[in-house]
Amino acid sequence: MEAPQVQPRILIAGAGIGGLTAALALKKLGFENVEVLEQTAVLKEVGAGIQLGPNAVKVLHHLGLGPALEAVAVAPLATKSRNWASGRTIRNFPLGQECAQRYGAPYLHVHRADLHNALIEAYGLGNVRLGKRVKTHAQDGGGVRVALESGEELRGDVLIAADGVHSVIRGELLEGREPRFTGLLAWRGMADAEKARHLGIERNVNAWWGPHRHFVNYYVSAGKRINWIGIVPAGEWRLESWSARGDKAEVLKEFDGWHPIVRGLIEATGDVFKWALYDRDPWPVWTQGRVTLLGDAAHPMVPFLSQGGAQSIEDGYVIALCLARLPHDPAAALQAYQDLRTERTARVQLGSREAGQMFHQTDPLKKLIRDVKFRWATLTNSQEKWRRVDWLYRYDCEAEVAARLGPAVAKAA
Ligand SMILES: Cc1cc2nc3c(=O)[nH]c(=O)nc-3n(C[C@H](O)[C@H](O)[C@H](O)COP(=O)(O)OP(=O)(O)OC[C@H]3O[C@@H](n4cnc5c(N)ncnc54)[C@H](O)[C@@H]3O)c2cc1C
Repeated sequence: MEAPQVQPRILIAGAGIGGLTAALALKKLGFENVEVLEQTAVLKEVGAGIQLGPNAVKVLHHLGLGPALEAVAVAPLATKSRNWASGRTIRNFPLGQECAQRYGAPYLHVHRADLHNALIEAYGLGNVRLGKRVKTHAQDGGGVRVALESGEELRGDVLIAADGVHSVIRGELLEGREPRFTGLLAWRGMADAEKARHLGIERNVNAWWGPHRHFVNYYVSAGKRINWIGIVPAGEWRLESWSARGDKAEVLKEFDGWHPIVRGLIEATGDVFKWALYDRDPWPVWTQGRVTLLGDAAHPMVPFLSQGGAQSIEDGYVIALCLARLPHDPAAALQAYQDLRTERTARVQLGSREAGQMFHQTDPLKKLIRDVKFRWATLTNSQEKWRRVDWLYRYDCEAEVAARLGPAVAKAA
């Protein structure tokens, strides 16, 4: 594959899912002058699962990660949403073969560490500069400057801020306001599948909808573990951290009276963790000249469509494709990336909030209408169910970029 004739120096702040996807896509497209700056000294993902919609898996396949994912992922057969107490099925949405055929890639569940390892192995750990926390940035017509907390200063042609929901670069670039606290908290844990075998948990996205809260569980690690998340009102808890431990008795109290599978899975789990949920309203501008935002830095969302990571993966591929089309004019490439991504990610952000309201419905009439609508769609196998998610899962980064900037000059291989 031919490398771009012009090689801009590209700085990426943050080696999370979004930053690493961008870095890997740029490498595949022939960019040789990319520097990833990560604040942590040791790269390791947390012990949690992640759902990857076909829109994200398609990108990871383009980047050559298909075999690595196949070795560790679990492909769920369906999303089965059930009543919190009785276990009655409200909605059964197929995610197996039918979904893979319709969208050109499967729906997958993976352990975050497995996804991170696959990205790192493909990109090269040696290419990530660890222990480099970005403190501040500036730009002028000639380029960008990044100052690290260590005192070091770096120069580049482009800065991609993939530094997460509390992005310092976003704070400098945009309004500087903190993200919005949603009033919700995610309890999470991971059980050994052997220890939960007696519960007969199905290979689905198993969602349990109850008043003011919901619970989701699914297999990861090639079926060896079961990941779960329980969303509840946050009370006084405000800390957002993948490593903040909680008390299992507290989770069991939150899910008092819930179906025996939910309670049994919590009981079969070792450590439990809690994470306060934050998001932002959609924002129409993320790019200024040679600097742009990506992933949670640009559009953090509540995880109720399981799409925050997927959107950062799409961002990473789209930005690389835009730079490959316009390597001689990085500012125009970043502007095209923003124009391609703001409307879609805003829809996903707002759709995620709406999904939470639907899951946690307490109004008896609205709940009845919800349940009847989904049960009818399940019983009649209505095509309407696909039409509701086509916009989300069918997105094709390459086609979107080609429609805006013309056909590819170089293709990821
Ligand atoms: C409970 C929960 C469940 C979720 N489930 C799903 C799901 O099933 N599917 C899905 O697609 N999404 C899910 N998400 C969302 C997903 O986790 C995020 O959207 C995704 O991790 C965002 O990736 P990112 O790379 O943009 O940011 P991050 O993952 O936050 O990565 C940011 C990186 O930048 C580094 N960094 C931060 N500041 C600096 C700095 N100043 N200098 C240098 N480096 C810095 C950080 O150390 C980190 O490595 C979930 C989120 C939560 C909270």
